[in-house]
Amino acid sequence: MALIVQKYGGTSVGSTERIRNVAKRVARFHREGHQLVVVVSAMSGETNRLLGLAREITENPDPRELDVVAATGEQVTIGLLAIALHGLGLKARSYTGAQLRILTDSAFTKARIVEIDDQRMRKDLADGTIVVVAGFQGVDRHGNITTLGRGGSDTSGVALAAALKADECQIYTDVDGVYTTDPRIVPEARRLDRITFEEMLELASQGSKVLQIRSVEFAGKYMVPLRVLSSFEDVDSPSPGTLITYEEDEAMEQAIISGIAFNRDEAKVSVMGVPDRPGIAYAILGPIAAANIDVDMIVQNIGASGHTDFSFTVNRNEYQKAMGVLESQRGTSFEAREIIGDNRIAKVSVVGIGMRSHVGLASRMFKTLADEGINIQMISTSEIKIAVVIDEKYLELAVRVLHKAFELDKGALGPTA
Ligand code: ASP
Ligand code: MG
Repeated sequence: MALIVQKYGGTSVGSTERIRNVAKRVARFHREGHQLVVVVSAMSGETNRLLGLAREITENPDPRELDVVAATGEQVTIGLLAIALHGLGLKARSYTGAQLRILTDSAFTKARIVEIDDQRMRKDLADGTIVVVAGFQGVDRHGNITTLGRGGSDTSGVALAAALKADECQIYTDVDGVYTTDPRIVPEARRLDRITFEEMLELASQGSKVLQIRSVEFAGKYMVPLRVLSSFEDVDSPSPGTLITYEEDEAMEQAIISGIAFNRDEAKVSVMGVPDRPGIAYAILGPIAAANIDVDMIVQNIGASGHTDFSFTVNRNEYQKAMGVLESQRGTSFEAREIIGDNRIAKVSVVGIGMRSHVGLASRMFKTLADEGINIQMISTSEIKIAVVIDEKYLELAVRVLHKAFELDKGALGPTA
């Protein structure tokens, strides 16, 4: 008997029929003798609808009240799923985040989980009851309802699995695992049987939307055994999905590159002709950080005649704000000849644990792009990732040729070889 936490995303509970289907899947695991905690998202589109209602009333709704509204989506699906489980003759009880005392900080709309009280869940599990929990939400120490940020149900699932020391946390979604890249762009993309936690972290932060990045960080911190699977497959013959592992085992020895991620959500800002002096990076990025704008890639050119150019990328929806901050600081925090921006860029990243022990991968990437005449605007690397910024209009082409160049379609360099 195992203790399993299952998380079902919005499309998996997108209609009452789909909810019945989830109930059948849960029932199957229950019949096999497992204890189950099931975390659900709101029905797909529902959170957007709820947030939209608030914005119909005012442009800038109070974050505390926004969370009160947004959290209702999940309250509906937990009740419906519990009812569906009862219909199959099973014992089930639904709980909101507040009822379970999923304690968070008070950062409304992006709260962090601080502590989870597992007593209530343990009592239910011990008497054979399936525990159904609302994802995406918690409660702060003053009793205010909080939400964890968009896509936050993944983090709820992982956090509950960590708190309960579950044997496995299964994230059910509308794809059957983690792929070498988005199959909508490259039909030859393959599902990976396993992927290391570090690779998953890179893929999630580079734009692969399979798991919310915070949930991956959380899983790593507590080493939660995590599996991504599809809820759209036959209940009785499920595919194994993709397992996220914490060690590089033998099966992964050949894995050099495991995937290609991309992100269209970024924009580039360049501050041209700034004095090349100590403190200039801080003078430019300090105000950006103070305005709560996240910066991703940063490039500073080698200066000539006492001046240099400084570029960085931000989330596309913070582009205008970043440009505004820089314009307002120009002349006080720093001098600059020109501030220019481009919000039609895209980032493409090649990710693989094998990069640590293989050379020449960056040059293969750059040659592949050069052969297609794709100009690289920025480059950043980590031990297991090479990312480039290119013109958005070449994004799909870049992903396709890189997938081919690294033979991800064949699996020759992949973990599932
Ligand atoms: N319902 C929330 C959202 O749409 C949380 C989630 O689905 O994970 O962002
Ligand atoms: Mg999701």
